[in-house]
Amino acid sequence: MPEVEDAGTDRDMTAFYQPELARVIDKSRLTDRMVLLRLQLHSGEFMEHQPGQFLQISLPGYGEAPISLCSSPTREQTFELCVQAVGNLSAAMHDLRPGNFVGVRGPYGHGFPIDEMAGRDILIVGGGIGLAPLRSLIDYIRDRRGDFARVVLVYGAQTPGRLLFRDEIELWEQERDIDTYITVDEPDEGWEGLTGVVTVPLAGVDVDPERTTAAVVGPPVMYRYVAAELFAKGMRQDDVLFSLERRFKCGMGKCGHCQLNDLYVCQDGPVFRYSQLVGRSEAIEVWAPEDQRD
Ligand SMILES: Cc1cc2nc3c(=O)[nH]c(=O)nc-3n(C[C@H](O)[C@H](O)[C@H](O)COP(=O)(O)OP(=O)(O)OC[C@H]3O[C@@H](n4cnc5c(N)ncnc54)[C@H](O)[C@@H]3O)c2cc1C
Repeated sequence: MPEVEDAGTDRDMTAFYQPELARVIDKSRLTDRMVLLRLQLHSGEFMEHQPGQFLQISLPGYGEAPISLCSSPTREQTFELCVQAVGNLSAAMHDLRPGNFVGVRGPYGHGFPIDEMAGRDILIVGGGIGLAPLRSLIDYIRDRRGDFARVVLVYGAQTPGRLLFRDEIELWEQERDIDTYITVDEPDEGWEGLTGVVTVPLAGVDVDPERTTAAVVGPPVMYRYVAAELFAKGMRQDDVLFSLERRFKCGMGKCGHCQLNDLYVCQDGPVFRYSQLVGRSEAIEVWAPEDQRD
């Protein structure tokens, strides 16, 4: 895929909107609302990416939307997407079958700064479908486990049925390479795990603020409370990474729909350091406890 900066004229720009084809290899259901698609580029090339980056996925007649890569770049042959049916395109993606094709642009955006995270304690905090992009990071860390110090996952969903990747979470727990705290807001009869929002187990996790980087992805409401908990533990704004979700069309800083002052979520993010966000948008500033605002 050519670099966007190379685009000279409007005519040249069409090349950047040209999707390439990817074939569906496998589809499985994760929850009542989510499917997991495994795909392969038709060109046979690998999907090189950073955990946290996204693709623009299209289907003729249905549209195009950003979807995060949820597989690790260390698993090279195929790539995976976790899709929630909420509208035109995503519902049509639930009907895809092995052998079908989708259009793919990307990968785009800044993902997690994995090189800088090496050697540090990693605290991963996920809410709901936020585990999808985090699973890319988790599998990356598992494949390079020796490069990271202590790894903790705190993940919550509304109900046990809404937890993503339950089989894999069990494996992560069994391997004991990652300390996992899994919680649900509304337990059902069979649930024997933790109950409450993610900040409940997060409050009990010991963190060495000098050594820890936190990676946080979840619904907007979660960020304010998670930020408050992390800052109460003494974490620095530079070490708190948030992935933001905003509506946009192009994925490469052209349409302006995702603009936060001088930042584009699609291009400068979706993964941001907390320090990049404070002061840039009132909507985001309120996440910071008063004594943490610049
Ligand atoms: C960086 C990034 C990564 C993402 N990763 C994933 C992922 O991994 N998996 C996933 O399932 N989703 C992901 N999303 C969200 C996904 O892109 C959206 O849900 C997308 O809108 C789905 O497209 P659609 O055509 O199916 O739905 P749409 O037709 O776009 O509708 C989706 C919902 O948004 C509402 N809506 C439509 N237009 C507007 C508007 N202008 N303003 C406000 N609301 C509107 C609709 O009523 C509907 O409820 C990601 C988004 C971003 C920005």
